Amino acid sequence: MTLVKKVLIANRGEIALRIIRACRLLHLKTVAVYATADKFALHVGLADEAVCIGSASPEASYLNQRNIVAAALGTHCDAVHPGYGFLSENASFAKLCEANQLKFIGPSAKVIALMGEKAQARATMVAAGVPVAPGSDGDFTAVAVGQTWADRIGYPVMLKASAGGGGKGMRVITNAADFPEAFNLAQGEAQNAFGDGHMYLEKYLTHPRHIEVQILADQAGHTIAVGDRDCTIQHHHQKVLEEAPAVIVDEPTRAKMHRVAVQAAASIHYEGAGTVEFLYDGPNQFYFMEMNTRIQVEHPVTELTSHTDLVAAQLKIAQGKPLTLTTPQAPANFALECRITANTAGTITALHLPDGHGIRTDTALYQGYQVPPYYDAMIAKIIAYGPDRPTVIRQMQSAIDETVIAGISTNLDFLMQLLQESKFLDNTTDINWVDHLVEPAP
Ligand code: ADP
Repeated sequence: MTLVKKVLIANRGEIALRIIRACRLLHLKTVAVYATADKFALHVGLADEAVCIGSASPEASYLNQRNIVAAALGTHCDAVHPGYGFLSENASFAKLCEANQLKFIGPSAKVIALMGEKAQARATMVAAGVPVAPGSDGDFTAVAVGQTWADRIGYPVMLKASAGGGGKGMRVITNAADFPEAFNLAQGEAQNAFGDGHMYLEKYLTHPRHIEVQILADQAGHTIAVGDRDCTIQHHHQKVLEEAPAVIVDEPTRAKMHRVAVQAAASIHYEGAGTVEFLYDGPNQFYFMEMNTRIQVEHPVTELTSHTDLVAAQLKIAQGKPLTLTTPQAPANFALECRITANTAGTITALHLPDGHGIRTDTALYQGYQVPPYYDAMIAKIIAYGPDRPTVIRQMQSAIDETVIAGISTNLDFLMQLLQESKFLDNTTDINWVDHLVEPAP
């Protein structure tokens, strides 16, 4: 069994607190790292020890691999939890940890790299029997090759960069006449962003939903699906509201999605917590999009509907413990998460977060806290859980209504608007719904 007794948390904000709390539960010591701008952040105070790793900019601190590893070695940690964002899906960081006898809490560097290269990930999934959207076999760099594939797949198509991420180098192309120009623009963007002009094509789905499956895999290769989530409500490809389970999905399709997600993870010898993301186009029509090799922002909705502590599970797997299949009563049938984001930086002058029956709040905010301008805008997650979707939406409306975050501008009003839209209440949205709501087509 791997010796894990002291964990360095290579992150900040609510997820750093989430990890510290899970460590405490398992009697593990914790070391926080922080940028100078985070000197008064809650994770610094709550960890057993804290090490300053650099100045405010992420490159100097939370992305500074050498300083983080030095902090871990200097405080005699034996493991590193990367959280989400920052270095969590950086294969070279995972490698650097392993090279320094630090257990990286996640899959191997090789698996991270494999899932990070999109055309390769797609090919791996095809080999594992996971459905993918009709598309090109592998990638290409010549426009003529792309045109041939597009004609074969049929328009509209989605052009993507193999090295892609964050939506860069991506284009929807609706007809053959637009192909050459769109290809050149997208390839140029990919070249600029990733130094790599390899592109691939997929059939463009016009009204899909985003459904994902949470998996856990232990070091012995025992892999399970813990549940599914519906993350269709997105603004500019950023998730805004997340639900569990995905109530839109019929039971046979759900069972199949869980089965292929487990198959996908098992085929690459996955270890830890991971998420297989699908585009869902109707009963029995779903296609692999990507695999995220880390804990996700929206993990609480699965925790509340499965009775699994996913972060504790990550730690236990890293210790070499086997997954135990228990089926205790889940706290709720349904859960919904809202991501609260800050539109501005500034000092929180007054704070009231919702509480009470069926509400969980994950945040690192406190009254007087200064929200720094350097990092992710998400400052809190409110999760409502209860017997069914309509009840939980009502609980969430009430929770958002009572929330006070004064001193900065937030998206609370926007969230309340979404929670009252008839298409959301009827559950008839698709992944473009919020964008069209905010910027209606001319
Ligand atoms: P990135 O890694 O750059 O974010 P993804 O491949 O995850 O790129 O795609 C980003 C978003 O684009 C998805 O969340 C989905 O909304 C949309 N998308 C991706 N592939 C397709 C497709 N084949 N059809 C329709 N929409 C798609």
